[in-house]
Amino acid sequence: MPIHLLPDEVASQIAAGEVIERPASVVKELLENAVDAGANTIEIITEGAGQRLIEIADNGSGIPAEELPLAVQRHATSKLQTAADLFRIGSLGFRGEALASIGSVARLTLTSRPPESQTGARLRVEGGSVGRVEPIGAPVGTHIRVEDLFYNVPARRKFLKSDLTERRQIDEIVTRYALAYPHIRFRLTQDGKTALQTSGNGSRRETLGLLYGTEAARQMLEVIAVEEGFGVSGFISPAGLTRAHRRDILFFINGRPVQDSALSAALLQGYHTLLMVGRYPLAALFIEMPPESVDVNVHPTKAEVRFSERERVFSAVQRAVRRALLAYSPVPEVGGQLKWSGAPAPEAAPPVWESAEPEEENAGAAWGAPSMGAAPAPEEASAPVPPAPSYLPGNVPILRLVGQIAQTYLIAEGPDGLYLIDQHAAHERILFERFMAQRSEQNIPAQTLLQPASVELPAQAARLLTAQLPVLERLGFVVEDFGHNTFLVRAIPSLLARLDPTAALRVLVEDFEEDETPLQNEMEAKIAARVCKRAAIKGGQPLALAEQQTLLRDLEACQSPRTCPHGRPTMIHLSVDLLERQFGRRGAR
Ligand code: ADP
Ligand code: MG
Repeated sequence: MPIHLLPDEVASQIAAGEVIERPASVVKELLENAVDAGANTIEIITEGAGQRLIEIADNGSGIPAEELPLAVQRHATSKLQTAADLFRIGSLGFRGEALASIGSVARLTLTSRPPESQTGARLRVEGGSVGRVEPIGAPVGTHIRVEDLFYNVPARRKFLKSDLTERRQIDEIVTRYALAYPHIRFRLTQDGKTALQTSGNGSRRETLGLLYGTEAARQMLEVIAVEEGFGVSGFISPAGLTRAHRRDILFFINGRPVQDSALSAALLQGYHTLLMVGRYPLAALFIEMPPESVDVNVHPTKAEVRFSERERVFSAVQRAVRRALLAYSPVPEVGGQLKWSGAPAPEAAPPVWESAEPEEENAGAAWGAPSMGAAPAPEEASAPVPPAPSYLPGNVPILRLVGQIAQTYLIAEGPDGLYLIDQHAAHERILFERFMAQRSEQNIPAQTLLQPASVELPAQAARLLTAQLPVLERLGFVVEDFGHNTFLVRAIPSLLARLDPTAALRVLVEDFEEDETPLQNEMEAKIAARVCKRAAIKGGQPLALAEQQTLLRDLEACQSPRTCPHGRPTMIHLSVDLLERQFGRRGAR
């Protein structure tokens, strides 16, 4: 076939395919137009999962009758003038393709009236052919009707999923914009049923309830952080409220929902060591930054972005998340079901941490042992997060040591009751924070081994380790590649002097294997958490009174004293209130 120009109709269908992939994409583009038009009420109606009909009515600025034919032309927009404008976009739309694309793959009817016009005007487009503008009575704003989507592109229709899925996609899109614009009233009706309705009263938590459920929304922690030109605000879940997937992590840049795996990574880093492996938080985070710092013109759907100061955005997100978590960190409380006589009450929900890593405390057995957190916690099932009012503020109170029991737990008294402290988890936390503090001061004292330890690894593990030697060096491990999959450990961090160097090295490689490509800091923190676990005092180890005291004081001094670096609690709190109820001193239940 000789080279030839494609007919207009084919070219516009190709272009439309990039913007309009499914009914939800139509909804998204039309929602963006309504928001850009300054509407404060947006009503969406769909039938047949958006394939038969999508209707959107807004009370925004409207389109003058004489501009209607232009609005449905490709590359026609009122939002952009020059190429330079592309780098300071303040509106959701700017490519001037949505209406043209929709018009080429559906039957489109535009009815609009700007506030200054006495009457409205209507224009129809069918499969790309534009009709004539007719005057018609209409309320101020714009009303768009999209019928029989893909009626002329049967191939596209075949790729649509079930009605259920397509409807859910529409739900999701509308919910996202409702979250982003809490001052706009949204109503979505799908096949006659109200799928979503917001009041426009500015409350994001209310809309979060529609997205995550009221209970989860109530527990979400508020994030507010502003630093020169960058703002991060929104909501994140407490560490005890997690999902097995990342779908409930939402990011918005300047009011635009975006997908960016690096932003999620920054969020997870903010949680680091508070989450169990394989569990993900819920989050709706809104990042505000100067429009010239973000390029949204990466893809026709505008869902991907590029940042001019990547690192800055990520660290702002990470810090904001971290700060919110620290401010709210709860101590797990034993529920009202406490039975002193034996096992926990059968009806009590399993504690959050129950499916955490298996506690294999024998370092020598580490190689080939199941990796931590291999068994994912059942979705949602567990999460007895204490209700918001029982969160204790800030850090742990000053505790008075009572003693050690079962050679594993410390008992202490605080102003508000009794604390049981897991000596292993607590020591893990202490070592971890000290280690990371030395790391951030770039001053990790190392202890040279009198006799270098040599370790032979399987070929694949050896390759991984070789690639990570620089990371190890930054953490104070001096390891030399001796060839033939053999390594010499010459020095280890002094803080971890108790560590058996051979076992430590094997543990490190296990960690590398599990990881995809974590950010460097995350990698270092993971390794640190892993080796601190090895080096920490074990359960079943008797401690002298002075050692118990030191452990308690050191734990109080930690920034996150309430969990070990892997997310398990270091302490359990039995409040005075609970004790009084249990002893029938007050309001017997
Ligand atoms: P873009 O949003 O990228 O400019 P569109 O094809 O979505 O391109 O819309 C073309 C133009 O039509 C917009 O620039 C805007 O001027 C006008 N328009 C579309 N929808 C609306 C609306 N709901 N209210 C007011 N004007 C609208
Ligand atoms: Mg648009």
